Amino acid sequence: MVNGYFISALVGVLVFEAIDFVAILLNLRALDPDLPSEFADVYDAETYRRTQDYTRASTRLGIISSVFDLAVLLAFWLAGGFGWLDGVVRSLNTNPIWEGLLFLAILAVARGILDLPFGIYDTFVLEQRFGFNRTTPATFVLDLLKGALIGAVIGVPLLIAFLALFQYAGWPAWIYAWIAAVAFSFLMQFLAPRVIMPLFNKFTPLEEGELKEAILAYARSVDFPVKQLYSIDASRRSSKGNAFFTGFGRNKRIALFDTIIKQQTVPELVAVLAHEIGHYKKRHVLTGTIFSALETGLFLGLFELFTQQQGLFTAFRVDKTSYYAGIIFVSVLMRPLQYVLSIAGAALSRRHERQSDRFAATTTGRGEDLAAALKRLSKDNLGNLTPHPFYVFLNYSHPPTLERVRALSAAEE
Ligand SMILES: [Zn+2]
Repeated sequence: MVNGYFISALVGVLVFEAIDFVAILLNLRALDPDLPSEFADVYDAETYRRTQDYTRASTRLGIISSVFDLAVLLAFWLAGGFGWLDGVVRSLNTNPIWEGLLFLAILAVARGILDLPFGIYDTFVLEQRFGFNRTTPATFVLDLLKGALIGAVIGVPLLIAFLALFQYAGWPAWIYAWIAAVAFSFLMQFLAPRVIMPLFNKFTPLEEGELKEAILAYARSVDFPVKQLYSIDASRRSSKGNAFFTGFGRNKRIALFDTIIKQQTVPELVAVLAHEIGHYKKRHVLTGTIFSALETGLFLGLFELFTQQQGLFTAFRVDKTSYYAGIIFVSVLMRPLQYVLSIAGAALSRRHERQSDRFAATTTGRGEDLAAALKRLSKDNLGNLTPHPFYVFLNYSHPPTLERVRALSAAEE
């Protein structure tokens, strides 16, 4: 069991878990008891204290859940769980595709069940305590069922196709899989807002009035053809606010959470929309898609390279190689690479966010509206105002709000 693969997989997992842990500790120590002066107009002392309590409480839950996940993985791995499960599915003597489907489905369901208590605690205890939760137990259960159904309807055929490609197509199966994966990601960009998200939320066309007119007037001024403008009933699950934009080509839709529509003024909402349109105008969606397509290609190539190595399977206490178990083992082995790429992806995303902020400030001519909207969003979501730079470097897809507000007010002058 102990070979080069075993050592690099184990060390990779432990080292990056330790780096995460250090970043979390630094982040907790960076909580500053003094409110940054830029936020004095929106926060009172009590709200600021609650923000810090929320950061501490959600950090604690995050640590417990990731230590638990790591312990389960190590226990299952070292006790020979993968080899045992492989023996069970192989004893059915069907074909490698069905066996693989069963192997992965059992692991996915087991993981879902083990993680369930954390999800329940997060929604009904933690978020509840800080006044965010609006999810009823019925909605929670329905969400789980819908999630499982979507996983089955989309995931199972995809997995069958993936396993069959590697099993039967021969080299270079990873190239075929890559082309299929990229095509699928485009398909999902189209389907997600139309088919999947409406299963969870109601999209209502934004009603006629001051807000819609202001948004359309702004969109015309930057030559952005808004086709569809929606409000989403996010308030069914949480009081937290957000806005997002989806679609490519001629299929552009913008959706605003009903929670932020209630909480923000019209100029602030236009500024938020301007930021979202900035992502489109600066081709961020395309850049992001290309980045993740390259990442997928790299992982598929490495999958092809390592998935038939007997040594890797021995390291996980499995006797025979298979593509289905290879999915798990190669991804554990590639954890360090995946970690580094996710840092690069986060840096790219923060760069895009800064560009979009500048776009919004320039095109609306009023950076202070976006700054005000960001401050209010951050207050309503109890966002951490003073994250540690190392934690930001590892995890943040957006620059910290304080940095964004400072940049926007510097752009004013
Ligand atoms: Zn953005």
